[in-house]
Amino acid sequence: MTGAGSGIGRAVALALAREGAKVGLVGRTRAKLGEVEIEISSSGGEAVVAPADVTVPADVERAVREIASGLGRPTILVNNAGDARSAPFAKTTVEAWNEILAVNLTSAFLVTRAALPHFLEAGRGRIVNMASIAGLRGAAYVAAYTASKHGLVGLTRSLAVELASKNITVNAVCPGYVDTPMTDRNLQNIAGKTGMSLDDARAAVVQSSAQKRLITPDEVASAVVYLCLPESRGVNGQAIAIQGGEGFA
Ligand code: NAD
Repeated sequence: MTGAGSGIGRAVALALAREGAKVGLVGRTRAKLGEVEIEISSSGGEAVVAPADVTVPADVERAVREIASGLGRPTILVNNAGDARSAPFAKTTVEAWNEILAVNLTSAFLVTRAALPHFLEAGRGRIVNMASIAGLRGAAYVAAYTASKHGLVGLTRSLAVELASKNITVNAVCPGYVDTPMTDRNLQNIAGKTGMSLDDARAAVVQSSAQKRLITPDEVASAVVYLCLPESRGVNGQAIAIQGGEGFA
């Protein structure tokens, strides 16, 4: 589970643990991962902390080795670590572009490449990529993020076909605005750039959604759990929107 220390990643880690999975917690901040580990172990589950920057190949390889030796061969991978930034296209620097592509797209390539030998050896596997509604359609001022999430959906679809005969499924989950620290940062950014108050920025996002609310991390987590169940084997190569219907958010 990458990006397991906060937001959606934390919710997915806890939900998978409740279903009986042993969870390898990957992220940059050991302290935040440690808190999730304590939450899991205090309710009878098992988890290990494997700090890594998912954009660094050696870090990723080491984290997957640590998880395999601590918990056994992994058979589920959730590529969730990611970041969002917004800027008008003309003001998007090549550095910002590369950083967003690295953390949202190349990271999934790296972690999947490191975990796949275990899945092939086990003869089964589930890969869930945390894309976004921005992986399915475009929006203004988020070209890099949108390109990275469309790329992640593309990776999902290709890998699903390539691994279909190996008892491994690959799917993407595509949430709209979820109530997480990332959304808090986005709202601060919108407020800072437009002069709106934080409350007004949040209200505008809520208003643009079909159900007039933000999605909760637990709703996203239950979709991930579903995709990881043995009986979800027939669901493969899908990009599942979780946005409460066709709003703008
Ligand atoms: P978040 O900021 O709470 O979580 C992102 C996590 O990824 C953090 O724990 C962060 O430390 C980790 N991370 C970032 N860069 C990393 C790196 N280089 N190496 C290791 N870990 C790294 O935000 P969130 O909303 O929970 O986001 C989780 C995922 O969901 C992201 O991929 C995001 O794009 C996606 N998503 C979020 C929303 C939303 O509205 N919040 C909507 C759609 C998709």
